[in-house]
Amino acid sequence: MTATIPAPTSAPAAGPRRPVSSAPPPADGVETFDSLDPATGDLVGVHPVASAEDVASAVEQARESAQWWSALDFAERADHLLTWRSVLTRRLPQLAELVHRETGKPHADATLEAGLAIDHIAWAARNAKKVLGRRSVAPGLLMANQAASLEYRPFGVVGVIGPWNYPVFTPMGSIAYALAAGNSVVFKPSEYTPGVGQWLADTLTEVVGGRPLLQCVTGLGATGHALCTSGVDKLAFTGSGATGKKVMAACAETLTPVIIEAGGKDSLIVDEDADLPAAAEAALWAGMANAGQTCIGTERVYVHRAVFAQFVDEITEQAKGLYAASAGGGEGAKIGPITMPSQVDVIRSHVQDAVDQGATVVMGGPDAVGERFVQPTILTFVPETSTEMTEETFGPTLAINPVDSMDEAVERTNATRYGLAGAVFSKKQGEEIARQVRSGMTSVNSVIAFAGVPSLPFGGVGESGFGRIHGADGLREFTYAKSITRQRFRPLLDLTTFARDEKTEKAFGLVLTLLHGGRKTLRDLR
Ligand code: NAD
Repeated sequence: MTATIPAPTSAPAAGPRRPVSSAPPPADGVETFDSLDPATGDLVGVHPVASAEDVASAVEQARESAQWWSALDFAERADHLLTWRSVLTRRLPQLAELVHRETGKPHADATLEAGLAIDHIAWAARNAKKVLGRRSVAPGLLMANQAASLEYRPFGVVGVIGPWNYPVFTPMGSIAYALAAGNSVVFKPSEYTPGVGQWLADTLTEVVGGRPLLQCVTGLGATGHALCTSGVDKLAFTGSGATGKKVMAACAETLTPVIIEAGGKDSLIVDEDADLPAAAEAALWAGMANAGQTCIGTERVYVHRAVFAQFVDEITEQAKGLYAASAGGGEGAKIGPITMPSQVDVIRSHVQDAVDQGATVVMGGPDAVGERFVQPTILTFVPETSTEMTEETFGPTLAINPVDSMDEAVERTNATRYGLAGAVFSKKQGEEIARQVRSGMTSVNSVIAFAGVPSLPFGGVGESGFGRIHGADGLREFTYAKSITRQRFRPLLDLTTFARDEKTEKAFGLVLTLLHGGRKTLRDLR
């Protein structure tokens, strides 16, 4: 039996159907689905559709491995995770090839993505103890007789559901941090990149002597739903907002906490004093790399009117020679195919809507949207009401509009229900502008830099989701705070007893007035 995922919009190009997955073929009678190369339609691998029972069994095994894993100390867990990151580094070409085959992105981009993920594994492993380990905290004057301590304990089993656009980097933001915090993980990769998910799980299994510490359950939406309702202790979802809502609803049944990392409509703001060639280079890359299929990619550009024409000339000049490879090759092409065939129609409709509403086509346009490949498209004077400005396009398109001031740029940037990331190019007031943008992350005078800084939390606001991966927040996200007080001596004012007398109550009132009854504010004390 073979399940169907949306097929490419055109027939596969003639050529070898050459599976590259190292996974053994599923047993007879097991429902399966195919992973296809989006550039050619060639078969990359055949994977089982994990049923609700399969998912439940994986979670049960994960519970056992979580007991072993959480009983190790931070240093022992770090040893395993750092070994894993070395294995991934040494096998990077193999991993990049699989990412390239399943997503269609250029090999070098796949290497970059996986490389950044490896850096995150190392950071999470090395910093877990410092962030989560047990520490004493001040008990305060009222409770001076208590020793207070705090530590962050792992939940147990974490479910991770991933997308296809960055099949290593994105789920690793949850997987590495959940593992470093002491959890085991059951991972449901996108149905477009099951081979990558299985490969990651297999390599960690090898490192930990066959223990099911990171298991991969492959399948479609139903398998993801089964993971949400399987009794995992936390669910980290990355994907579209529409699916995120379904995930939340399913997890709500059991009060399973969730992290939602959803889509965005990020802007890049260019001030009049910006380095224009650098801003154009960054906008072009952030808009077009990975064929625009980047949650934190640039989709809108707001440029100060004083330098608007110059900026458009500059980016148009730089975009010459940039093109998407057509099926069957394209030496020098830096843009791959659209991985998910159904997205092609979304991209076409956004570009068409912009043009219908009066946008100027500087490059590309509706005709640039092919069946598998979309050629770089630059539009200017795009009406803010068009879907090109309001919805996530997820294709190699940039909408560039002039603004009269940086206040207007911020206002337009924030006039969206999303709030994932963004960038600002300005010599004098970059950070000031960045702080006014309502989003989880902003790069000043570069793009996407925050994603490569492991100590910075990653996540959005509004319909871009909530919760954080990466950094100390990302480690804490996969734990619960455990607070302990230990009485060192009987308190002078014993309040938690029925033997409490009037004298004690009066004394308590007096102490409280002394501590908090004054009218001094922090400002007075400075
Ligand atoms: P998607 O929502 O279609 O699928 C994501 C995952 O959810 C897949 O594994 C899918 O099988 C699974 N799924 C589908 N139905 C489900 C259900 N009912 N219950 C549970 N799981 C279910 O998203 P996609 O197309 O794979 O990814 C692209 C989207 O992801 C874009 O919107 C992009 O912006 C977003 N994204 C966000 C981030 C971030 O960090 N914020 C990172 C990468 C991608």
